[in-house]
Amino acid sequence: MNKILIAGNWKMNKTVPESLELIHALKEKLRSPCAAEVVLIPPFTSLHSAAEDLRGSDIQLGAQNLSHLGSGAVTGEVSGTMLISAGCKYVLVGHSERRTLFHESDALIHQKLKTALSEGLHPIFCVGESGEERDAGKTKDIINNQLTVGLNGLTLMEMRKITIAYEPVWAIGTGKNAKPEQAQEIHEVIRSRLASLYDPELAQGTRIIYGGSVNPENSSSLLSQSDVDGALVGGASLDADSFYAIINAIK
Ligand code: PEP
Repeated sequence: MNKILIAGNWKMNKTVPESLELIHALKEKLRSPCAAEVVLIPPFTSLHSAAEDLRGSDIQLGAQNLSHLGSGAVTGEVSGTMLISAGCKYVLVGHSERRTLFHESDALIHQKLKTALSEGLHPIFCVGESGEERDAGKTKDIINNQLTVGLNGLTLMEMRKITIAYEPVWAIGTGKNAKPEQAQEIHEVIRSRLASLYDPELAQGTRIIYGGSVNPENSSSLLSQSDVDGALVGGASLDADSFYAIINAIK
């Protein structure tokens, strides 16, 4: 059984003081050890202060994006090495908002995964189909293709650092979460793809988390599915009470 991971993606929300306020509230609630690994993913501007504030706690830090390039003349980008130095362990790669708003292709996402791994980060690799793709019966093909291109050539050792997040695009920020059995079905597809690309042991040991309108009301049924190893939470992670309730939903 994989350790459950609950990650909060704050997206483009929270100034530095607001970030620290939320972290203080969460730390207060998470005083006693909990069953999940908790990861906060604030905007870049809050990372360093967040890391200072989280020193000594069990809460991990992640970034929302990284450059596929190394350091140097790349104005406006942030490298994996910078993220590590700011205190990050994790980084999101392939989030649907990056794919749609910034036209990130599967090939670029593959580059980002390679760069993140070579710089020492643990990527949370997001995959998911749009509503139209689901309606057209293409969900499994889309997911399998995103996995095949994104993970192309990664070694077993690299794969052990990767978490996969299944995030159906139609469920992100819409309040329309996947039904637990829909999430379970696609998590099984992902696991069997990992088994055929690598081996069953790697597939079993890879955390596959669900994201898309997770909230305190639906988290328990989603997290009780056998192939759901955690949650990537957007909107509901912006409030300490609701994020804590999701963390507490683990049985
Ligand atoms: C996300 O941004 O990864 C996400 C799942 O958002 P929300 O929980 O708001 O749907």
